[in-house]
Amino acid sequence: MSTIAFIGLGNMGGPMAANLVKAGHIVRGFDVMEEAKTKARQNGIDVQESATAAVEGAQVIYTMLPNGKLVDAVLTEVLPSASAGALFIDSSTIAVADARAAAEKVQAAGHRFLDAPVSGGIVGAEAGTLAFMVGGDEEVFGEARPLFDVMGRSATLCGDIGSGQAVKICNNMILGVHQIAVAEAMVLGERLGLDPQAFFDVVSNSTGASWALTTNCPVPGPVPNSPANNDFKPGFANALMNKDLGLAKAALEETGTSAVLGQAAAAFYQETVDAGFGDKDCSYVIELVRDR
Ligand code: NAD
Repeated sequence: MSTIAFIGLGNMGGPMAANLVKAGHIVRGFDVMEEAKTKARQNGIDVQESATAAVEGAQVIYTMLPNGKLVDAVLTEVLPSASAGALFIDSSTIAVADARAAAEKVQAAGHRFLDAPVSGGIVGAEAGTLAFMVGGDEEVFGEARPLFDVMGRSATLCGDIGSGQAVKICNNMILGVHQIAVAEAMVLGERLGLDPQAFFDVVSNSTGASWALTTNCPVPGPVPNSPANNDFKPGFANALMNKDLGLAKAALEETGTSAVLGQAAAAFYQETVDAGFGDKDCSYVIELVRDR
């Protein structure tokens, strides 16, 4: 069993750290928000007064933070206090370039690094069923694997540092496009007089099927626990989708890649957030399609 420092005990990091505690690890945590700290204490996390204090004596230093800037700030703060040869794992969703810069900084100080973003949302974090997509060295991945197995149901080594983040933004660019495509088709179906259940029964078994329909169906009824049945409580919030599509858009521009639909999805989610719906599930775009 390891001593793990866990920095960022929010919606995702909190339950992930709690699952590590349940598996018998010692977890020394830190977050800047009182609410996150209180909840973490209730879940058996040894909450410290600073990130620096949390990393003392830890073999593994885990970060689950809102963005790349904060990941860099936290790493810069804790590096001088990290034990020799510590394993740093960052599961935040950040730019590929930021993950590479973080790895360089950590490795230059004699430690190891993996980028390991996740898919599966808060439900997956709580249930320990996340999917980890990992970038880094194979041996280091092998060392981290038992932790991924506690917090998730799959972990895939995707290539060198940054490749976990690369696959994450590619996946979410597909999801953004799918969620809008499903919304547009369902609204068209409604206006052609189709019952949404009939639409669902056919399309979910046809070539138009996708997670955006079969799990995250944007109309209430066909999938009883999709967010549409619960006032679009996320799920995967528009604000997070917008963040990930912003990362995808930057990567498209950096690599000179044309993606007409990816760019359109990024613009649509930006509009959704600007209209004040950042905290609704990403399937909420169906309401904007109806209004357009
Ligand atoms: P969150 O805002 O709930 O949690 C982030 C936590 O980091 C907060 O509790 C915040 O107080 C804390 N924090 C910020 N600055 C800090 C600092 N300097 N030191 C310590 N703690 C600090 O966000 P989340 O939903 O848990 O997401 C975390 C990451 O996971 C993001 O990068 C997000 O894009 C990614 N992600 C989220 C989901 C999801 O469904 N929520 C799914 C996949 C990936």
